[in-house]
Amino acid sequence: MHKFANVILPLPLPKHFTYQVEDKDVSVLEVGMRVAVPFGKSKVYTGVVAKIHEERPTQYEAKLIEEVLDQSLLVTSYQLKFWSWIASYYMCAEGEVLKAALPSAFLLESETVIELDKSSSIDEHTLDDEEFLIVEALQNQSLLKIQEVMQILEKKAVLPVINRLVKKQAIVVNQELYKQYKPKLITYVKLTSEFKEEAKLNELLEELKNAPKQREVVFTLFSLEAKLKKPIEKKLLAKESSASASTVKSLLDKGVLKSYHLQKDRVNFEGEVKDFNIELNQSQQQAYQEITSHFKNNKVTLLHGITSSGKTEIYIKLIQECIAQNKQVLYLLPEIALTTQLIGRLQKYFGDQVLIYHSKYSVNERVEVYNHVLNNTKGKIVIGARSSIFLPFQKLGLVIVDESHEATFKQYDPAPRYQARDAAVVLASFFKSQLLLGSATPSLESYHNSSSQKYELVELTKRYGNVLPPEIELVDIKDKHKKKKMTGHFSDRLLEEMRVTLGEGKQVILFQNRRGFSPILECNTCGNSPQCPNCDVSLTYHQHNNSLRCHYCGYHMAMQKQCLACGSTDLSTKGFGTEQVETELSSLFPDHNIGRMDLDTTRGKYGYEKIINAFEQRQIDILVGTQMLTKGLDFRNVDLVGVMNADSLLNFPDFRAHERSFQLLLQVAGRAGRTKDRGKVLIQTYNPYHQILQQVSSNNYTAMYEEQMEDRYNFKYPPYYRLIKLTLKGKDYNVLNEASSWLAKALSQAFHPHVLGPEFPPVARIRNEYYKNIIVKIPPKNSIQKTKEYIERVLKSYDSIGNYRKIRVIINVDPY
Ligand code: ADP
Ligand code: ZN
Ligand code: ZN
Repeated sequence: MHKFANVILPLPLPKHFTYQVEDKDVSVLEVGMRVAVPFGKSKVYTGVVAKIHEERPTQYEAKLIEEVLDQSLLVTSYQLKFWSWIASYYMCAEGEVLKAALPSAFLLESETVIELDKSSSIDEHTLDDEEFLIVEALQNQSLLKIQEVMQILEKKAVLPVINRLVKKQAIVVNQELYKQYKPKLITYVKLTSEFKEEAKLNELLEELKNAPKQREVVFTLFSLEAKLKKPIEKKLLAKESSASASTVKSLLDKGVLKSYHLQKDRVNFEGEVKDFNIELNQSQQQAYQEITSHFKNNKVTLLHGITSSGKTEIYIKLIQECIAQNKQVLYLLPEIALTTQLIGRLQKYFGDQVLIYHSKYSVNERVEVYNHVLNNTKGKIVIGARSSIFLPFQKLGLVIVDESHEATFKQYDPAPRYQARDAAVVLASFFKSQLLLGSATPSLESYHNSSSQKYELVELTKRYGNVLPPEIELVDIKDKHKKKKMTGHFSDRLLEEMRVTLGEGKQVILFQNRRGFSPILECNTCGNSPQCPNCDVSLTYHQHNNSLRCHYCGYHMAMQKQCLACGSTDLSTKGFGTEQVETELSSLFPDHNIGRMDLDTTRGKYGYEKIINAFEQRQIDILVGTQMLTKGLDFRNVDLVGVMNADSLLNFPDFRAHERSFQLLLQVAGRAGRTKDRGKVLIQTYNPYHQILQQVSSNNYTAMYEEQMEDRYNFKYPPYYRLIKLTLKGKDYNVLNEASSWLAKALSQAFHPHVLGPEFPPVARIRNEYYKNIIVKIPPKNSIQKTKEYIERVLKSYDSIGNYRKIRVIINVDPY
C-alpha cells in the first residue's frame, strides 16, 4: 500500500496538495514535519504535512516528496488546527496562514537567497562535500539563489543541504531584509555621591584650588545640572568647560566624577534578576483577585484600567503564577515600539525567561525563539506583536492582550487578514488557557462582550500612587485666531504651558495627527495642486529635502517654483504635518532640543528605539509625533501633552472615527504626569463643544460607550452587525466598474438590503490600480458561516466570467 501526504504549501491554494511518500520515508514521516516538494513546472517549495493517508488522488498524478526536512515535528497539532480555523474564519488559504506563521528561514524555496553568516566562524572540517561547495561559492559571491545552488550541486534536492548549513550557523537566509540594532552608548557623568555632602564638597573644592582646570569642570557640571535638570553627557561637560577630555578623565580616575550609561541592551539580558515580590496596592490587589477568580471559571476577562493605574504590575503577578506552574505565557502588544520599554521591565523580574518575537527580528532570532517555544525549554514568556499567536506553544497557560483596543492587532495586508486579539481568544480556548484583555479605553466590542456577560469586567479607576489623571483643557483655536493669539499653529495657552513645563526641566509631547494633515502645495491663482501620476492623491511637501512625495507609492519630484498648470509663482502650502510643527518649534524654542517621531523618522529597523531612548535619556525636550506616540509608552518626565489639532481625527470618514478619536486622545493624554505631579493636557480644536472632546476632557468612557453604541445600533454596525469587505482591484477602470456592479448585484440577491457599494474608497487609485469596495453587513440573527459560504459560491461564479479575472477580489472579514 502506498502512503500519501497532504501538504500545505506556502501558496494561496484552496486545497492541500497530495504527494506520494517514498518507501524509505514512510517510517520517519509524521504530520507536522516539513517536506521539500516539486510544484508547477520547475519550482521546489517547503511545505508542511497536514495528513498522512492511503488514498491516491483521483484528479492528478501524485508527485513524490523530494525530501523530508525534519527529524521531529516542527508544527504542532494545535497549530494545524489553529491555521485551519484562521483560514476558514478569515476566508483565506491555509498556505497563506503557513507563510505568516513560520519564520521564513523554515520555508526555503527556489526564490530564497542565502549568504554566509558573518557573525559566526565555520570550522570547515565539519562540512561535508556538498556543504563545502556552497560555502566556497559564497566566499566568491556574496549571495546565492537556491536555483544557483542547484546548478552548483548539479541536483534539485538542495533544501536539505541548505537546512543543514543554517543549522550549523554557516549561512543565513534572506538576511538582507533584516538588520541588527546596536544601541549607541552615551556616557554620562555625575559627581560621586560622597561629595553630595556639603563638608566633603568644600574639602574637594579646596583641594582642587591647585588644579584650576579640574575645578572649572566641577563648577561647569553644577551649572549644567542646574540649568538643564537632566543627566549630563560627558562630551557636553568637556565642551562647556572648555577642558580637554583628559581633564575629565583624571577627575573620573580620582573618583570625583562617576560615569554611567542609561542604555542597556534590551535583547540579550545579562543584568541581575530581581528577587521579587510585587506589592500591589489595595485596588490592584482587589482587581488581581477578581481576575483570578474569573479565570477559575474559565472566563475571558477585560481589565479596564485607566492609564498608569498599574495594569502592567498586575500582568507581572499573573505571569509569575503561570510560569510557576511550568506553563507558557503569551504577552501580545500592538506595536514593536512598545516592546522596547516593556522588555526592560519584564526582564528585571524574569531575566532570560523573556523571549521576544516580532517580524522585524532577524531570521535567526526568530528561528531560535520558535524552537524555544516548541521545546518549551528556555523562555516561558513570549512578548510579541500579532504574529506571535502563531508560535508552537505546548502548554499555553496565559494570554495577555495589552492595549487590546489597538487597531494594529488587525493585519490588513497580505492575507491572512486576521485580528490577533480575536484570534487569541480562539487560541486560548484550544489550550483552555486564561486570557486577559487590558486597556484604558477598551474597544466597543470588548466592552460590549463584558456587559453582555460573554467576558468578565474588572476595573481600575485610580492611577498608581494616587496621582490624579492629567487635567485636560480644550483650547478653542477658532477664538484664538480671531483674537490674534496664535503664533503659527500654537495658541498662547499652549506656548505658556510649554514654557512653564520646560522651565521646570520637564519634557513636552506634542501630537499631530497624520491622517489628512500632510501639507500640500496649492496654486493661489488657479487652485491646482500637484498630483501623483500613479495614485489619486496630492503630493505632500517634505521640507527636509525640498521635495513633493506620494505617501502611497513613493513617487517624488523636486519642489515646484511655478504652478504646473498655469505657471503662476504664487504658491502656498496648505495643511500642516509634524515637520511643520518641528520647524515652528525650532524658532519658538531655539534653546531646546526637538525630536520628531513619525513614519519618516522611524523608517530604519530600529528608528523607534533610537527616538524613544533619546527621549528617555532627555536628549530631547520636546517630542513631536503622530499616532505612534500614543501607544502605552511610559515616560517618567513628561508633564505636558499638547494636541495640535483634534478636528481631523473627528472628521475622518469611518464609522469608528469617534471611538478611535476618544481612544487616541485619552491615550495620548495618558503620557502626561505619570509619576508624582499631575500632568496637563491641552487639546487645540475648532470644536470645543464636540461631544467626544467633552467626553475626553471629563474622562467619561461610559458616556462615550453609550452614545456610540446607540449610533452603531441605529446604523447597523459592529458590534451589532458583522462586516465583510470585498475589495476589487485592477488596472482596467471600466472592467472594474462592471465587475463590481455584477458582484454587488449577485450578493444583494441573498443579502439585500445589507450590501453597501460598490463604492470608490477615498483614494481610488494607487500605483495605477483602481479600487472599489463592497461591504456585506451580517445581521446578528444570521449565520456567519452560511453568509461566508454564500459569498464563496458567488465568487466561484464570478471567477468563471473570463473578463473579470483580471480584477482581483480581496476578502476582509471584520475589516475594521
Ligand atoms: P498602566 O500599564 O496601567 O498604564 P503601569 O503599570 O505602567 O500602568 O504603572 C504606572 C507606573 O506606576 C509604573 O511606573 C509602575 O512601575 C508604577 N507602579 C504601578 N503599580 C506599582 C506597584 N504595585 N508597585 C510599584 N510601582 C508600581
Ligand atoms: Zn496655477
Ligand atoms: Zn503615488
